[in-house]
Amino acid sequence: MKVDWLIVGAGFTGATLAERIASQLGQRVLIVDRRDHIGGNAFDYYNEDGILVHKYGPHIFHTNDIKVWNYLSQFTEWRPYYHKVLVVVDGNKIPLPFNLNSLYAIFPPRYAEKLEELLLTNYSFGAKIPILKLRENADGDLRFLANYIYEKIFYGYTFKQWGMKPEELDWSVTGRVPVYISRDDRYFQDHYQAIPRYGYTELFRRMLRHPEIKVLLNTDYREVMDEIKFNRMIYTGPIDEFLDYMYGPLPYRGVRFDFITLDEEWYQEVGTINYPNEYDFTRITEQKYLSGQLLPKTTLLYEYPTEYIAGKNEPCYPVPQKDNQQRYEMYMKHAEKFKGTVLFAGRLADYKYYNMDQAVARALTVFEQEVIK
Ligand code: FAD
Ligand code: UDP
Repeated sequence: MKVDWLIVGAGFTGATLAERIASQLGQRVLIVDRRDHIGGNAFDYYNEDGILVHKYGPHIFHTNDIKVWNYLSQFTEWRPYYHKVLVVVDGNKIPLPFNLNSLYAIFPPRYAEKLEELLLTNYSFGAKIPILKLRENADGDLRFLANYIYEKIFYGYTFKQWGMKPEELDWSVTGRVPVYISRDDRYFQDHYQAIPRYGYTELFRRMLRHPEIKVLLNTDYREVMDEIKFNRMIYTGPIDEFLDYMYGPLPYRGVRFDFITLDEEWYQEVGTINYPNEYDFTRITEQKYLSGQLLPKTTLLYEYPTEYIAGKNEPCYPVPQKDNQQRYEMYMKHAEKFKGTVLFAGRLADYKYYNMDQAVARALTVFEQEVIK
């Protein structure tokens, strides 16, 4: 077989690049994935009760990037969806990100009022403050509040999720869920928030439906590399694996996803409920909130963070820490020797905690700046 491009990985990064190369340049692409499906971590499927479930954890699309939104809108219609999350604190379910409503859900009204006033004098309405920054505030009451939130919401969850304390990770990790000086209970505030109306897998099918794109599943690229003639390669898998772990493995976090279907219509009040302090799972997501389906049964998705072992489970999260970033940079420096033949992009190859829209944005940039020359 002869193609212009061999693309490793059929997730958002690989699929976007395959689609652009085929539709804009008319070049031939072979996209290879070692899993038995397209879509990477965004893959979804209908379970035996007809409920659309996300195999690798709940995926909610949100972006402020109009270019990404318009690009993906060519391949899907959308179902508008605002994701809401509650977090269990001392048996009460309160809004997350922690906001002014959460304050009143926890503290007696007079103390909540005092804390609200302090927050509003220290920060402007609408401000988002990472928990590790709020803990640096000099005011005694605000520090009490920050420590309370840190201990009750961040410490246990982060320990389950990453096996370490919040301050051992780059601040941006816990900064994804900042304290929000607002009454807005939505998990995200992006301009565009929606779920592909017919699911993510269908979106990928449409992206890859071009006659110049061939898809090969259940195949590690190393099995076919010598049998296929190609001019250039795009690699979206783990960068350390590509370079035979020459600088040692980059750590990733794995997650076990357990699905339970109940013979009842609804289980919980919102899409996701987080459990920082109890149980071994981090959160429960009720899939029907995401799919918008109305069915008599309901499927719950439990996430159990685990160690990542290459070849045994999937590398779900890169681990944002200074040492890992330095090791990644060593790999990237070495990867320069593939300049002109292999391009690297994606959550695993870039070793960056990308959301889906960031993976697509990165792929579009690679297409414009490195594929078209
Ligand atoms: P991936 O989807 O990981 O695709 C890489 C592909 O490469 C994989 O399919 C893999 O099998 C393949 N591959 C690797 N090595 C080889 C090889 N040697 N040979 C062949 N194939 C190979 N983002 C959001 O925007 N919103 C969310 O709500 C959200 N929730 C998430 C929840 C969880 C639990 C996780 C883990 C991620 C979540 N994300 C979310 C992030 C989202 O999954 C990623 O941004 C996106 O999937 C990145 O796409 P990618 O193509 O870079 O990587
Ligand atoms: N986090 C936490 N408690 C929560 C929710 C999040 O401590 O109830 C921290 C935790 O470290 C987590 C990070 O914030 O890994 C980012 O959370 P997010 O919901 O963005 O994670 P993702 O959806 O990417 O798994």
